[in-house]
Amino acid sequence: MTEQQKSIIKTLREQNFSYNAIAKAMGVTVATVKSYCQRAGLAGNRKEAFKSQSDTPLELPTFCRCCGKQLIQREKVKHRKFCSDACRVTWWNAHPELVKRRNPHTVKCLCCGKEFTYFGIKQHKFCTHECYIKHRYEGVTCDTETV
Ligand SMILES: [Zn+2]
Ligand SMILES: [Zn+2]
Repeated sequence: MTEQQKSIIKTLREQNFSYNAIAKAMGVTVATVKSYCQRAGLAGNRKEAFKSQSDTPLELPTFCRCCGKQLIQREKVKHRKFCSDACRVTWWNAHPELVKRRNPHTVKCLCCGKEFTYFGIKQHKFCTHECYIKHRYEGVTCDTETV
């Protein structure tokens, strides 16, 4: 966890947000928030305090996952996680293992027509390198493909 993240957690705990809410806002696990709070003396029954404060929940601020800058969420706009495209790219580049688990795509191999699944942003058209070669150099194309 970065110093920036720690200070965000501290700020949110001071505003009586629950571990859950903080984890959600920051894109980290509840366990991460909890263990930091326990170490930093921010644990306790804040959740109760939060609950009893009012009927309308406090508006939870969200922060750029990359640089920690507070984000302004506009209603009816997809929930933003980064302040800018630059931050989004930087963050995903720093977390390739998360990219892999995201964006699963199931597509048909352009060569043999077999369905296969790939992960990540990079587009795949062939199930194997072999199929790519066959398609590229021998012109083998899946005949079930509709144009
Ligand atoms: Zn940012
Ligand atoms: Zn194939």
